[in-house]
Amino acid sequence: MKHQHQDLEILSQFKGSIMRIAILRIGTIDESIQKKILIGLKEIYPENECFILDKIMPIPTDAYNQAREQFHSTHILGKIGNYVRQTQVDCVLGVTSVDLYVSNLSFVFGEATCPGKIAIISLFRLRPEFCGQPANREVLVERCVKEAVHEIGHTLGLKHCQNPICVMFFSNSILDTDRKRRTFCEKCHSKVVKLLRR
Ligand SMILES: [Zn+2]
Ligand SMILES: [Zn+2]
Repeated sequence: MKHQHQDLEILSQFKGSIMRIAILRIGTIDESIQKKILIGLKEIYPENECFILDKIMPIPTDAYNQAREQFHSTHILGKIGNYVRQTQVDCVLGVTSVDLYVSNLSFVFGEATCPGKIAIISLFRLRPEFCGQPANREVLVERCVKEAVHEIGHTLGLKHCQNPICVMFFSNSILDTDRKRRTFCEKCHSKVVKLLRR
């Protein structure tokens, strides 16, 4: 905990580097979940201005793959790009409840342009119910925050980290997500600081 506070102090020294992050709801998202993702992002990226867009993006039906019963993540990312142009923020994080995939993977918890301005996360496989466990809002929120911080880290240009407790560790399964923290390891953190300084 002490370590995390030191990190926040370091990051807060860079006043000229405020990144604007907008959360874009894609389809219906539980209001308390959206707010908690927002709070989590504000905590991890303290020199950032985070807010939820009023507009809700309808779930793009043309991204649906009937055979897989999933939505093509990269296709949706392209559509989120329009909102970046409209809102002039540095990063738009799409949040959706539908199941996402990319061409070479059976599913993804999220995806982002790296570096870039567009990210998406899906709640679908983060819900404990997906693995047959009882619903648990706190667990869901914690997982959402980790995946949101991770994808936004990619938009800054961060790659995957080998440290299994760093938020930039690649989640191959939900166990990886649960193991890692919502914060950056020291190495990734110093990269974030450098990138925000530019
Ligand atoms: Zn990643
Ligand atoms: Zn790391």
